[in-house]
Amino acid sequence: MAPDMGSSLTAKGCMAPGRFVSAPWVFPLVGPAVREGAVLLDAEGTILAVGPRAEIRFVYPSLPEDRAEGVLLPGLLNAHTHLELSVLRGRLSGGEGLPAWAMQVGRELAGFSMEQRFDAAVRAARVARDKGTAAVGDVGNTLLAVCALAEVGLGGIFFHEMLGSRDAATGDALADAERERRMFLECEEWPANVAYMLAPHALYSAGPDLLRRIFAATAACTHPTSLHVAEDQDEVALLRDGTGHWVEILTRLQVPSGSRTPGLGPLAYLESLGAFAGRPPLLVHMVCASAEDLALARQHNAPVVLCPRSNLHIGGRLPDVPAFLAAGLGLALGTDSLGSAPDLSLWGEIATLASRFPDIAPEIWLGAATLGGAQALGLDALGSLAPGKRPGIIEVRCADDRDPARALVSDPEPAIRWLVEP
Ligand SMILES: [Zn+2]
Repeated sequence: MAPDMGSSLTAKGCMAPGRFVSAPWVFPLVGPAVREGAVLLDAEGTILAVGPRAEIRFVYPSLPEDRAEGVLLPGLLNAHTHLELSVLRGRLSGGEGLPAWAMQVGRELAGFSMEQRFDAAVRAARVARDKGTAAVGDVGNTLLAVCALAEVGLGGIFFHEMLGSRDAATGDALADAERERRMFLECEEWPANVAYMLAPHALYSAGPDLLRRIFAATAACTHPTSLHVAEDQDEVALLRDGTGHWVEILTRLQVPSGSRTPGLGPLAYLESLGAFAGRPPLLVHMVCASAEDLALARQHNAPVVLCPRSNLHIGGRLPDVPAFLAAGLGLALGTDSLGSAPDLSLWGEIATLASRFPDIAPEIWLGAATLGGAQALGLDALGSLAPGKRPGIIEVRCADDRDPARALVSDPEPAIRWLVEP
């Protein structure tokens, strides 16, 4: 691969090269892997050039070299997690579907103080960072995770999650969320590297009026909103014909019968609610998506976030990823929370997908964990090694230097070192 350096170095002459990082392999993600590659950066970590080491070295013979022994990748993007649930690690049993899993969350969470929840969120965020995560799409009912992100210096998007129960209790979930945000800002500084977005929890847990208001409020935003979609067959059954396990739970919560049954599939329902009026939302899970759902996701260019370990824990099945690829959908990866995944490392998600779908090229998983996540979240400076980007660079040690992509996706716990912070 030829180094793409001329334009950036001559047109932006003020960007003086400050670091020269090289390794046996460089994965730019926007082009083929480079054997004996290098990355040239300015002092702030913005990339000036990527290409064969010898060619960049020829232009800058005296620049000190930071030599790595593994594979260079951009920092990863965890497009779906819930730091506020980190205290539930290992506490929620799975295998019986989403309604049974979800009923445990509130019950278990009530046993912990806010301090315990915060400490667990900070620990989880540190693990994510140490495993190479540059940014997250974090979902929270409270703003607790924003402080955890700030504590660790992890950026991304905070999705303030709205449920129908909040709307029912306060009369206006969006106004209540804004009150919560203002109260937070009176005591804390909002981290500059974290964007704020409203987000519905799911189509079964929020009524159509609240969903419409959230999509209307977020339509003009730079970043997308996000929601759990087609995670479980009970959701699809409720939406289509008012059956499944959610019916009894919603009745207990005094949700009017039929108000969550539009008689449509999840994506057709989203379309009817104005979900695609602006930047398309992140479609998290899509385990039970139909061909109609995939066609609508493609039509609206909506990315899918895969959280395979969570899906296996809760419902014992994975989404039809080959069908997603055949439909041309953009893919990102998420860990979901520690209530359904053992840690917040994307390498566990990558290794799970690679072993369950051995016919899919490893580059697909590496792309979903980096560039796919950046595109889905609208974090354009991240996710690839290319001039003008500032993605952070990690070195990942890999067991097989001859086929590094395959080796990378086969190791759920590779050794990782941050070479350049994002
Ligand atoms: Zn989730």
